[in-house]
Order: sequence, then structure tokens, then C-alpha cells
Amino acid sequence: MKARERPVLIIGGGIIGLSAARALHRRGVPCTILDQEPIRDGASCGNAGLIVYGHPPLTRPGVSVQGLKWMFDRKSPLYIRPRLDGDLARWLLTFHRHCRKPHFEACLAVLAHLGWETARAFDEILEDAAIDCDWRPTGWLDVCLEAKNLDAAEHEIDHLAPHGYTAERLDGDALRSTDAAFGEAVAGAIRWNQSATMDPMAFMAGLRRSLVADGVTIREGTDAGVERLLVEHDRVVGVVLATGEVLHADRVVLAAGTWSGPLAATAGVDVPMQAARGYHRELTGLSNVPSVGGVFRETFIAFTPMFDRLRLAGTLEITDLGRPWTRSRLENLTRAARPYLEDLEAGEVTAEWAGYRPCTPDGMPMIGEIPWARGLVVATGHAMMGMTLGPITGRLVAEILCDGAPSIESPLLDAARFGRVG
Ligand SMILES: Cc1cc2nc3c(=O)[nH]c(=O)nc-3n(C[C@H](O)[C@H](O)[C@H](O)COP(=O)(O)OP(=O)(O)OC[C@H]3O[C@@H](n4cnc5c(N)ncnc54)[C@H](O)[C@@H]3O)c2cc1C
Repeated sequence: MKARERPVLIIGGGIIGLSAARALHRRGVPCTILDQEPIRDGASCGNAGLIVYGHPPLTRPGVSVQGLKWMFDRKSPLYIRPRLDGDLARWLLTFHRHCRKPHFEACLAVLAHLGWETARAFDEILEDAAIDCDWRPTGWLDVCLEAKNLDAAEHEIDHLAPHGYTAERLDGDALRSTDAAFGEAVAGAIRWNQSATMDPMAFMAGLRRSLVADGVTIREGTDAGVERLLVEHDRVVGVVLATGEVLHADRVVLAAGTWSGPLAATAGVDVPMQAARGYHRELTGLSNVPSVGGVFRETFIAFTPMFDRLRLAGTLEITDLGRPWTRSRLENLTRAARPYLEDLEAGEVTAEWAGYRPCTPDGMPMIGEIPWARGLVVATGHAMMGMTLGPITGRLVAEILCDGAPSIESPLLDAARFGRVG
């Protein structure tokens, strides 16, 4: 086999890895996906399933100060587990520096553009791969208990309106007239029009099935865990698996989500990632399930109808990987939803899960080739919007590897922007 015919190795079978494989396959490029876990346990399957085009970054003005106030409150939606860790301290400082209006607005312009393109990419995947994932292109709801919060939510329309996104304010009665699931305590909601909801586990299973049918190789389980990248001079030449097996390749995509940092470091790339753990709990048997998904504004909990279930998901717990679950956070999901929804108590808890969002300190994903490790494309750091931005990220990865440059470029997405390790 000639060197250029070797498959592209994609590290990570989350939404980013699978989307990259799909986009590359459509360009006629063979690929192999390597995942150290079965592709059903990760963030890409357990997330809230809100496909929010034009989602703002985590680095919003004021968030870092609020985060510090919440730092020691285990019940808060954003919780940073205090620990003596230089990387965490550096990450928090960089995060704080980026929670500024000019940065927020610059990010939003890029994310809004990516939003329109990922919407197109989703339509194409859903049609082409015929995935049954309870796709509901009905927008999303920002649901408020308090009128003052509804006013604040309405102001946010101003941020996205210049980018073509539309939303309208519904008072409580108008909301209940279309969706009886919402209780009397709800003051109203902002309904954002250009978004969708789905069952992400079903979407991932469908995407995976279509890749396998197309002949993409997927290796998963501990034998497929990657220990390090192989770089010679200024080129990536393959990977070494945890088993010691060496796989040679001319092009490698690093899409290992939260775990990308240490792997990137083996090619000298600084990926300053923190894992932000979130939880979900699913209820079935509810007599009243909202027909549109969204977020409860006061408690930051997402709610998503998925077939006959309602998934409640949320909390952002910056913590070390592998730490035991904080069980009370699962209870909090139900508690936080109670004031908003009728009949919640009738539901039976049928699933519980926790997983990690990959968060960069400036709130933006890293998508691009590494100048000092040619052939290595990093695609990670999507934090709370990875499911939404998966399809467009996959397309950009394919463009970088096939055309030499992505069709959407911004220094805010540059994969080498944090420089070299050390
Ligand atoms: C509670 C919660 C709710 C969320 N809700 C939403 C939402 O509503 N909308 C939205 O857009 N986003 C949401 N997100 C964010 C979204 O889920 C993530 O951004 C996205 O799944 C990240 O995808 P990924 O492919 O980068 O990483 P992952 O899905 O984490 O995949 C990375 C994969 O790499 C594998 N891997 C790691 N290291 C190695 C190695 N050394 N060798 C081989 N394989 C390796 C892992 O096993 C994993 O399967 C949510 C996240 C959480 C936790």
C-alpha cells in the first residue's frame, strides 16, 4: 500500500470523530476510528440532545465571577471542585480573562456562522443516513419562572438577531395553551426558532451504522486505546496503542474529547482542557411531556423529549476525571425541574448517567492542523455545544485534510493557539 493510501486514523468515536469519518468518507478518503470505550457511553450519547444553532460560548461576561461565588456550593449548577492543581489554576485564570464582552461578541459571530452551516450538515446527514432519532426541528424554549428573568432572556435575542436567528416571547398562558406540561408557576418562555432536539444516543447509533455500512473501520474497546502520537521531524507518522501496537498513518485526527490534552502533548501541542462533568436522568410514564425541549432558566437544567422519555440534563462540575458521581446532583435534576413541570412525580426514573464536556479556557473549540506536526488535525474542545457543532466540525476536518484549508477560518478556532507544551 502506498503511503498516501493509508487510512486516516481518527482518535475518538464521539460525535466529532464520527462526523469527521463521515465527511472524509464522502470525499473518498478511507478512515479508521479508534476508541478506547464502546461508542455508547460517552458525552456524545448522554448529552441533552439540544441542537442549538448559534449557541453562545461558556465564556460569557460575568460567568467567572458567578462561578467563584458558587465554587463551594455543591447544589449550584456550576461547581468547581477545589483542588491543588497548577493546570486548573492556569485554566481558571485564562477563563476569567476571556469572560469579557468583546471576546463574547467575537465568539458569537463565529459560532453563529458555524450554526447555520451545521444546520445544513444535519439536514444532509439525517436525509442521507435515514437516522431515526426523534428529530424535532421545532426550536428550543428558554423557560422562566420569574418575569424579570424572562425580560433578561428576551434581551438575549439582541445578540443573535444580527446573525439572522429569530425568537419570540411567550407568556405563561400562551406557552401552556400549546404545551400543557408547563405548570402555573411558569412566567413564560423565549422560543428560539432555528434549533432542534433529538435522542443523541439514537443519532450516534444511526451514524455509526451508516459508517459501518459504508466500509469505515471502527475499532473500540481497550485494545483500541491510543497511548501516544508518533511524530517525526515536523510530521505525524502514526499512533502507538496502549497494547504497544504501532499503527502508521500520514494523517491523524485527534478527537478524543476531554482526554485530548495528554495525547496532544505527545506531539508538543498544548490543549489546556478541563473536564466539566454533567449528569442526566430519564423519566418515563409521564402523562404530560413537553413537545419542545429547552432549558429551565433559573436552574440551568435542560429538558428534552426523546421518544417516550423525558431527559433532564445539566450541571457543570469541573472535576478530575474518574471521580465518583455526586449522587445528589442526580436528585437535583428532578428537584430543579419540579417547579416548571406538571405531573413530574408520576414519572419513573429509567436511566441515570454522567459524562464529561471538553472545555477550553477561552470557550471555543480547537479545529485545525498543527504547523509543527503536519498531518495532525486537532478537533476538540466543544464544551456544551459539541453535539450541535459535530457535523460542521467533521466537514472542516475533511476540508483541511483534502483541500489544505477549512472553508471557515478564524483565529478563535485555531488548534495551535495555545502554543507548544511547556
Ligand atoms: C450533561 C451534558 C449535556 C450536554 N448537552 C448538550 C446539548 O444539548 N447540545 C450540545 O450540542 N452539546 C451538549 N453537550 C456537549 C456534548 O455532549 C460534547 O461537547 C460532545 O459530545 C463532545 O464530543 P467529542 O466527540 O469531542 O467527545 P466525546 O463524545 O467525549 O468522545 C471522545 C471519545 O474519545 C475516546 N477516547 C478518549 N481518549 C482516547 C484514547 N486515548 N484512545 C482512543 N479513544 C479515546 C473516548 O472514549 C470518547 O468516546 C452536553 C454534554 C453533557 C456532559
